[in-house]
Amino acid sequence: MLPLELPTIQNWSCHNCGGCCKQHAIEITQEEFERIAKQGWRSEPGFEPGQPIFVWHAGPVWNRRYRLANREDGACVFLDDKGLCRIHSRFGEAAKPLACRVYPYALHPAGKTVAVSLRFSCPSVVTNRGRPLVDSKKDLRAIERLVVPDWADKTPPPLLTARETLDWNETLIFVDALDATFASSRGLFLHKLMWALFWVNLINQSKFDKIRGDRIAEYLDILINAAFDEIPYDLHTYPPPSSIGRMHFRLLAGQYARKDTSVEARAGWKGRVKLLRAAWKLFRGTGTVPQLQSRFQEVPFARLEEPFGELPNGADELLTRYFRVKIQGLHFFGPAYYDIPFAEGFQSLALIVPSILWIARWIAASAGRQKLALDDLQNAIAIADHHHGYSPLWGQYGFRSRVRTLAKLGDIERLIAWYSR
Ligand code: SF4
Repeated sequence: MLPLELPTIQNWSCHNCGGCCKQHAIEITQEEFERIAKQGWRSEPGFEPGQPIFVWHAGPVWNRRYRLANREDGACVFLDDKGLCRIHSRFGEAAKPLACRVYPYALHPAGKTVAVSLRFSCPSVVTNRGRPLVDSKKDLRAIERLVVPDWADKTPPPLLTARETLDWNETLIFVDALDATFASSRGLFLHKLMWALFWVNLINQSKFDKIRGDRIAEYLDILINAAFDEIPYDLHTYPPPSSIGRMHFRLLAGQYARKDTSVEARAGWKGRVKLLRAAWKLFRGTGTVPQLQSRFQEVPFARLEEPFGELPNGADELLTRYFRVKIQGLHFFGPAYYDIPFAEGFQSLALIVPSILWIARWIAASAGRQKLALDDLQNAIAIADHHHGYSPLWGQYGFRSRVRTLAKLGDIERLIAWYSR
């Protein structure tokens, strides 16, 4: 077992809200399929006749992969009326599918250690409710035994840029520098994000064949100090995003705003036509924003582009904590993020910020408000983080080329400044 690196700024305990059991598709292994099938649930109270327990989820007929079935409202078939898991209640925590036992944790090999991250789609994570993570070390050790393979310390280091891979120790110097940027007491979260983007963009253009070992830290110091000198402190000085950038961003933010639960999956071809229509509306950006989830109203696109004023109290802590957990947990590049290199992964993570602000604006506008509340931001993070690193689309060519185009146009910074005003 490798030592665990915990994000000590984060608290979490399960509050039995059942949120995870309503929004995630729980894929199960063959062993879990057979074990749960033998438990005789079909004849239990709460299971209607004909209610399926498993759904063929992926794979060919000869090698089917299953997930747990969902009820009409999208909740897992095992979630009871009190919001508790029936498998857990009857057979104990260890009898649940592995995916349920691990959530909301995510463990990522990091050389000679294992980095722990959390999924902010969980309402208790996003609101920082529960005990400090250091107090959950015993539980995390048990999860590590289940999900981290024996050969984890042999995991090769991820790419730093599209051209280069350094060793694990060197790669972690960059991760630590990013974390230190967001931990600094200098500036607000949005300033730190601009500084970090500045030096990560330079890393993306650098070659490290001659800058190795201790010299990396020296080089990073120069870039980080240059960021303080070069980046305007007043975010109002950034020009508005370009029109091409806005179009790409609407499509990207629209993907983040979707919530693909079993209810949407059941919509079949009708659901697909609806999504195509929504993509067309997002591409054009005129009229009203297509209703991607029932919680959103069809507000005019233009309304989300108007100023919403300063971010609410607590936003800085929330966004900083979110970023530091993702950075410390290596949850934005490498194997945890579609094997995307460090620099591109951070650009992708940075783009989640205007996406969160856009979704939060949409939530507020749906309630007839033109000012953000902390709740709006928390809900927007929970919606966006549901996909980040999990939905296959994010690792595919279309999404990645959108991130690269926005970076090349210099629009990531402009979008951040635009939606934070
Ligand atoms: S099996 Fe239990 S814990 Fe897992 S999603 Fe279903 S109700 Fe929730």
